[in-house]
Amino acid sequence: MSTFTVIDPSTGSPITTLERAEIDQVDAAVADAVRAQRAWASLAPVARADALRAFARVVEAHVDELAALEVKNSGHPIGSARWEAQHVAQVLNYYAGAPERLIGSQIPVAGGLDVTYHEPYGVVGIIVPWNFPMTIAAWGFAPALAAGNAVVLKPAELTPLTAIRLGELALEAGLPEGLFQVVVGSGSVVGQRFVSHPDVHKVVFTGSTEVGTEVAAGCARMLKPVTLELGGKSANIVFADADLEKAAAGVPGSVFDNAGQDCCARSRLLVQRSVFDRFLEMLEPAVAGWKVGDPTSENTQMGPLISASHRSTVQSFLDGVDVAFRGSAPEGDGFWFAPAVVLAQPGDRIAQDEVFGPVLAVLPFDDEADAIRLANDTAYGLAGSIWTESLGRGIRVSRGVRSGARPPDPPPRPAYDGPRPTFGSCRRSEPAITGTRFSSKGTTAP
Ligand code: NDP
Repeated sequence: MSTFTVIDPSTGSPITTLERAEIDQVDAAVADAVRAQRAWASLAPVARADALRAFARVVEAHVDELAALEVKNSGHPIGSARWEAQHVAQVLNYYAGAPERLIGSQIPVAGGLDVTYHEPYGVVGIIVPWNFPMTIAAWGFAPALAAGNAVVLKPAELTPLTAIRLGELALEAGLPEGLFQVVVGSGSVVGQRFVSHPDVHKVVFTGSTEVGTEVAAGCARMLKPVTLELGGKSANIVFADADLEKAAAGVPGSVFDNAGQDCCARSRLLVQRSVFDRFLEMLEPAVAGWKVGDPTSENTQMGPLISASHRSTVQSFLDGVDVAFRGSAPEGDGFWFAPAVVLAQPGDRIAQDEVFGPVLAVLPFDDEADAIRLANDTAYGLAGSIWTESLGRGIRVSRGVRSGARPPDPPPRPAYDGPRPTFGSCRRSEPAITGTRFSSKGTTAP
């Protein structure tokens, strides 16, 4: 069995060394999950609901511990990490309402009875990326468990620690052995085994478009359902009639949150030409004031990038581009990267490809039609924001932009205050609608 070292990205120091699961261990975990799932699915819905509420209470009691672990392993600022841990409990509480509400349909037929039930798939394999290890895991495992499935979950090798702890907390909360297992290992072994294993009946994948495409192709060969949540290159669109001060204050948070390592990062800024120069003048101090540093500090807004290799990738996007201005970042150990604002042309790599780092590409537009054309001028379609004081324009533009969540007059982050954001996305971001209304039923066979 091989091992790997988990690194603290804010210092570059090792935290711990873990063993990688091989195929045999994945198969053993799936066999345990199959057994646990049968008993779990046969429980009364109210008993599954109670168990999930108990899990939520145990997570709530460990919010500070989970948050500290995420700060160490992922470099998330403590305020964000605490919110993420709390959010896991919220998601569990939300889906604790689902077991008793998975209502099928009655289909009118002549002289007979035609009804549908929502049955669990059995074992659901969940593959999680490194950028939001707790929240993305919870959006997968909470609805899957609520629907009567067992879960085998593979965290990213870079950030496995909070997922491992959540697996332990599930047992402490009284969830049966084998029902929710965290299997640590590489994507090409553990993740691929979820795809090929005949007893894993559904795969939930969040990650890059490249790997997601491979996972989807593998699932297609197995005729196995798959839910994908992939990359993004979302646009902030600022019209001349917007509250420019508010927009300039909001833009940094919408792209630099989690150091830009966010599928919904609004990594393109489209500004109406008549206010382009003025808006950049207003944005510069907001970017300079974005607090990058020690993630254990309550005032920090942005920590380091996740790894040295990812920092090199992000840095490569600045080669040969026109950097308008940058924020600041600490010197020294850790994978630090100062936020950058780049003047771009529509066809540039920086305006087309996902950076997944704190780099903002800025482009001017002339009118509504031009803004919509530019916003749609990438392969992605995950999120977006529209800044305007005109309700009619906000609605028209949001209908014209081919992407998921795209609030007019947006908050800095997408609407995560509820249990689960709805990503009604398209194109190379994800091919299906997922979110609050859909996820629990997304883990049942109709
Ligand atoms: P990757 O696609 O590289 O990895 C995601 C997960 O898949 C990891 O757990 C990884 O394991 C695993 N994996 C890697 N190769 C395979 C494989 N061949 N088969 C099965 N599983 C595999 O993405 P990142 O972790 O780099 O995450 C960043 C990407 O995720 C960005 O593109 C981002 O936009 C996207 N993302 C999308 C979100 C959304 O909701 N739409 C949310 C968050 C991120 P390991 O790395 O351990 O080997």
